[in-house]
Amino acid sequence: MTGPGHQSKTVIVGASLAGLRCAASLRREGYEGEIVLLGNERHSPYQRPPLSKAVLTGRAPIERATLRSQVAPPFELRLGVEATALAAEDQVLTLDDRSSISYDHLVLTCGARPRHLAALPPSETVLYFRTLDDAVRLRTRVQESIGRLLVVGAGFIGSEVASSAREQNWQVTLVDLDARIMSRVLGEGASSIVEQRHRENGVDLRLSCSISEAEIDRDGENSRVSLSDGSTLDVDMIVVGIGVEANTEWLANSSLTLDNGVIVDANGRAEGVNNIYAAGDVASWFHPAYGRHLRFEHFESATNQAQKVAATIAGTDLSPLDELPFAWSDQHGSVIQFLGLSDPSYLERSLEFSDESPHGQSFGYYDDHGRCRAAVLIDQSAHLGEVKTTITQSLRSL
Ligand SMILES: Cc1cc2nc3c(=O)[nH]c(=O)nc-3n(C[C@H](O)[C@H](O)[C@H](O)COP(=O)(O)OP(=O)(O)OC[C@H]3O[C@@H](n4cnc5c(N)ncnc54)[C@H](O)[C@@H]3O)c2cc1C
Repeated sequence: MTGPGHQSKTVIVGASLAGLRCAASLRREGYEGEIVLLGNERHSPYQRPPLSKAVLTGRAPIERATLRSQVAPPFELRLGVEATALAAEDQVLTLDDRSSISYDHLVLTCGARPRHLAALPPSETVLYFRTLDDAVRLRTRVQESIGRLLVVGAGFIGSEVASSAREQNWQVTLVDLDARIMSRVLGEGASSIVEQRHRENGVDLRLSCSISEAEIDRDGENSRVSLSDGSTLDVDMIVVGIGVEANTEWLANSSLTLDNGVIVDANGRAEGVNNIYAAGDVASWFHPAYGRHLRFEHFESATNQAQKVAATIAGTDLSPLDELPFAWSDQHGSVIQFLGLSDPSYLERSLEFSDESPHGQSFGYYDDHGRCRAAVLIDQSAHLGEVKTTITQSLRSL
């Protein structure tokens, strides 16, 4: 593939946040080769955070989600095309239009998709919320009438959709199997504050609860759901937010190591392959501080990882990525920020700051050596920097 006169070619699969950021960063890092960005959605690259927030409530136009990075030529953005197979030994991808494309470097930024709920048959009533099309569909629905929404899963997406639908005066029931809201990332104190925000804003929150039976009308009228708490709900719409799965099926016959995503090192390089990389929601990235592979499904890690892959390809920065996990969520007017990796064994303690904001509250999560390993800040973003420093220092002392 290489030789005199050969121009390097990087193909990126997945034209969303990580894909576009990687393309733009390659140029910033001085990469002069050809870049091809392939995406199976038909929209120009867009970001997802506004979809469940301002786009859904109508506070922002749909265009707010569009990503605006410019990539200097030679650059080709090919939309509506899906990669279906990878022959790593030949450095070739097969596409769903039966064409193929060769590469010198391949970057996988093909993200994740919502996990489906077996109890619910496919229907106009049931929405797995992930894409711009999903957001437009739900936004149209919540704006044209007032109805009854059932949200299954009180994680990031479910909680935000519940909050946005309440803002549109929909009647919202939020169901979760767990006894506490966002229990994977929040301790009891923080969970109860978020729970309280939902209840104060009129969300009918049902915890330790699941769907036991569903009669779903395929045309979207007259659906009825029975819950494990013995109640029955008539619903106009159901949104499911029970987690995501990495989009790796099409790579099953490649030589890549797949385990809850594409296994990559701390520079984004796929295990045992020199010229294939992954970043963002599809990547199971080795984190030096935690000493293991982690798949983050958040905006900042997708951006950081994409930039790191670009620097690795360009050869401008070969240091490992050692980022502190960070995510945020907006619910009922509150900004909730998450730092570090929480663990159920950690002790939750309220964090005290000198200039406490009257409404906000923050919690630290401490290991049994008394080190602060994670934190959640609720409406106290002014303190993000100092909390970040504390957790970073405690990770360095591991
Ligand atoms: C509604 C919503 C709200 C969010 N809000 C927040 C937030 O407030 N804060 C936060 O930190 N994070 C948030 N996130 C998470 C954040 O948006 C994701 O971590 C981020 O989108 C990951 O980017 P990505 O480029 O890795 O993957 P994706 O955004 O999933 O993009 C992958 C792209 O690749 C395409 N693709 C898949 N397979 C193929 C293939 N074989 N060939 C071609 N194309 C393919 C997909 O269709 C998709 O367009 C939110 C996510 C959602 C869904």
